[in-house]
Amino acid sequence: MESSLFLEGVACRVVRCMRCGRLRRWAWTVTRGKRRQFRRWTYWGKPVPGFGDSRAEVWVVGLAPAAHGANRTGRMFTGDRSGQWLYRVLAEVGFTEGGRAVSASHSDELRLHRVYISAIVRCAPPGNRPAVVEQRSCARYLLQEAFQLFSTLRVVVVLGGLAYDWCRRVLFPDLPRSFRHGQAVWATLLGGHPCWRGKKVCVVASYHPSQQNTFTGRLTWQMWEAIFVRVRAYLQEKGLGEGNG
Ligand code: SF4
Repeated sequence: MESSLFLEGVACRVVRCMRCGRLRRWAWTVTRGKRRQFRRWTYWGKPVPGFGDSRAEVWVVGLAPAAHGANRTGRMFTGDRSGQWLYRVLAEVGFTEGGRAVSASHSDELRLHRVYISAIVRCAPPGNRPAVVEQRSCARYLLQEAFQLFSTLRVVVVLGGLAYDWCRRVLFPDLPRSFRHGQAVWATLLGGHPCWRGKKVCVVASYHPSQQNTFTGRLTWQMWEAIFVRVRAYLQEKGLGEGNG
């Protein structure tokens, strides 16, 4: 099956998913208690599917949708400051169509080139802290995406220590336990599962571009930009481009 069709299938299952009662109830509560500035919005309020190029070479994995961000707009990393940083840097390094740097909602015209974006958990959690059982429930979608992207995938950028730790447990058990911003490690999916045919990808760890990190200077724009400039340089060095498997 074409990977774009399969990824659409994963997205459909995500949007209909009701496995985590706590998270579904929270999304519903947030949707009814809108923030004043978004009172005219019809909140998405459902689990948020992955977004991007079905033949991506770069997979960006975050933590979870924000209550008034992606839970409102229906697109990963859209509608909050973290998303502003992510789409701006993707535009700067040439991973968005026409250099568009702004993502407004799931129905706008933005298209990504060579990049796919998803998260370890697809529903907004209270306090931005998904429970382990919820991460475990949602891991099925991460794995399904990984298997569909694997033929073109070269780099995985993991945002934040929690997402990193979960990716290590679920996808790349040969990653080091410790998280360090900027570290880049070669890893095999599921520690070399036959389906992965021994192929290695470069897993790059970055601080999450949350306000907690960007407002405190823990993650500066220069540090953030450097991660993606490096990813692009790696792809260029390998002579990779659209359509290369
Ligand atoms: S977090 Fe994942 S598994 Fe849980 S309800 Fe949302 S989509 Fe389903």
